[in-house]
Amino acid sequence: MVEMRPSMIGETLYRIQQLDSEISSLRLRIDSLPGKHRLEETERERQSAEENLSALEKELHELELKQDKLDGELEILSEKIATEENKLVSGTVMNPKELSAIQAEILYLRRKRDEMETEDLIMLDEIDNLKEKVMEEKARLESAKERERLAKESYKKELAELEQKIASIQRERDDLKEELGDPELVETYEKLLKDKGGIAVVKMEGGRNCGGCRIEFTRTQIDRFQHEEGIFRCEYCRRILVK
Ligand SMILES: [Zn+2]
Repeated sequence: MVEMRPSMIGETLYRIQQLDSEISSLRLRIDSLPGKHRLEETERERQSAEENLSALEKELHELELKQDKLDGELEILSEKIATEENKLVSGTVMNPKELSAIQAEILYLRRKRDEMETEDLIMLDEIDNLKEKVMEEKARLESAKERERLAKESYKKELAELEQKIASIQRERDDLKEELGDPELVETYEKLLKDKGGIAVVKMEGGRNCGGCRIEFTRTQIDRFQHEEGIFRCEYCRRILVK
């Protein structure tokens, strides 16, 4: 491997740093993608529609059972009324007192049947209303699912684009690391990158300040930096300074 000129080492390190900074800003963008927020919102809408639908279906089912039971009771009552009416017309009961008691019983049972039939009609009406609500909620759920599907699709696309970009920058960065041909220097760089909040390589600012910690260098340090061929590091923050 051809050894890199010392002046190139600084430039390459600086370029590697720029690429790593780009990668971390792309990662931040991934975390705050608007599509992610939209997707979470549609997931909540779909869940709430599912919960509403299941509550309505439960209510409908219970009411249908209740109405079914009432229908059964009505049938029994009607049979009872028919039996009593039969007693009146069959001529088996002759006693006037007994006859009027049967008539009173029939009146009472008919009134009861009227009440129950009214209740039944109200219930049937409620069932119709609930069925309509269930239909509406089903439609709402379907459209929520569709919105969720679209949001998922567009988020995946946004994400894939950024991840592709990151992967290509990583490749460029790794190639440059190879070109440096100095695993130890790469290791130092990586450790600094981790320890120093993502900034390992900086330039001198205003000709006398460290671009990382802003400390002002002495004349001697600046002279050394300008004439040094190898890697120069800030004595205070330990970052790599390049020209
Ligand atoms: Zn510094």
